[in-house]
Amino acid sequence: MTRTITTVDALISAGLAPEAARPALDQVAQRYAVAVTPAVAALIQAPDDPIARQYVPDAAELLTQPWEQDDPTADAPFTPVKGVVHRYPDRALLKPLLACPVYCRFCFRREHVGPDGGLLSPAELDAALDWFARTPAVREAILTGGDPLMLSPRRLGGMLGRLAAMPHIELLRLHTRVPVAAPGLVTAALCAALPRDKPVYVCVHANHAREFSADAMAALAALHQAGVVLLGQSVLLAGVNDSAAALEDLFRAMLRARVKPYYLHQLDPAPGTARFAVPVERGRALLRELRGRVSGLAWPTYVQEGPGGTGKKPLGPAWEVT
Ligand SMILES: *Cc1c(COP(=O)(O)O)cnc(C)c1O
Ligand code: SF4
Repeated sequence: MTRTITTVDALISAGLAPEAARPALDQVAQRYAVAVTPAVAALIQAPDDPIARQYVPDAAELLTQPWEQDDPTADAPFTPVKGVVHRYPDRALLKPLLACPVYCRFCFRREHVGPDGGLLSPAELDAALDWFARTPAVREAILTGGDPLMLSPRRLGGMLGRLAAMPHIELLRLHTRVPVAAPGLVTAALCAALPRDKPVYVCVHANHAREFSADAMAALAALHQAGVVLLGQSVLLAGVNDSAAALEDLFRAMLRARVKPYYLHQLDPAPGTARFAVPVERGRALLRELRGRVSGLAWPTYVQEGPGGTGKKPLGPAWEVT
C-alpha cells in the first residue's frame, strides 16, 4: 500500500473493515476524520489488534456517553489568541494546524482535528507569535495541534526560528505522532530546519511496542542526531496496552529508540471513546507491577487532566516506605 487510507471504501478494500460495517462507518467518517498511513497499515496483523484498534474507526464511536465532552481538556477558556492555549504560567501551547498523519480513535481533540482544518493563516500566525513575544513569563513554547511535523520544513523552521529568537523563550517542545505513524516525513530537510541555539524537546506519542518499526527507529535516530531530546507520551487504552506486559514492552521499545517515557495519560473523556476506558485503579495496579521490574528510566508519570482545565494531576501509585 502506498497511499494513506482516508475513506470507508479504502478501509474496506484494504481488508481493514468488513463490508457489513459500511453504513455505520460512513456515519462515523462523517463526524470524525479517518487516516491510516501505509506505515501504520503495514503494522496491522489482525482486525482489532492493538494497532488497528487505535486507528480503524468503529461503530461504537457513534455512542456518546453522558460524561463525555467535546473539549475535555478545556482548551477554549485558556485561549488568549487563536492557536494559543495558556494554562500554566511558564509554558503555552501553539497549535499551528489541526491536521495529523493519522486520526486516533480515542483523540481528546477529535472534535477539532481533521485534514482540512485549522492551518493558521499568516496573519493569525503572526498574531499568535506576537502573543508569545509580549508574554515574557512564558519560557517554553509547545507546538501541538494537530501535528506540527505535518508542516513543511520551511514553515516549521520559520516559526521555530521566530520563537527561538525571543530572549525569554528558553526551550521549544513539539508533540507529534509523525515519527511512528509517518516516519518518511522525518527528512533531512526537516532535521536541518530545527533550531540549534535553543533546546528542542520532541515528545512522541506511541501506545504500543510494535509502533517502533525499523523506519520509526530510523526517524527517531535522525531527530536525535539533529540534537533533539526525545520524550514519549502514551495513553492507557483498553485492548491496546492495558496489561503489565504490554506497558513493559512499550516502555522498553521507547528506551531502545532513545525515547524517555514521560507521561502515561489517563484517557480524556472525548465523545465516542468509552471502549478505550481503563479505570484509574487498574492503571495504578499496572504501574505498581512494573516498578522494580523495569529500569527507572522506563517509568512515566501517570497523569489525568483535571476537570475544567485545572491541568495534569499525577495519579500515583504511591508507596508507604516501612
Ligand atoms: C499538557 C499541557 C501543557 C504541558 O504540560 P507539561 O506538564 O509541562 O507537559 C502545557 N499547556 C497546556 C495547556 C497543556 O494542556
Ligand atoms: S495524533 Fe494526537 S492530535 Fe492527532 S488524532 Fe492522534 S491523538 Fe489526536
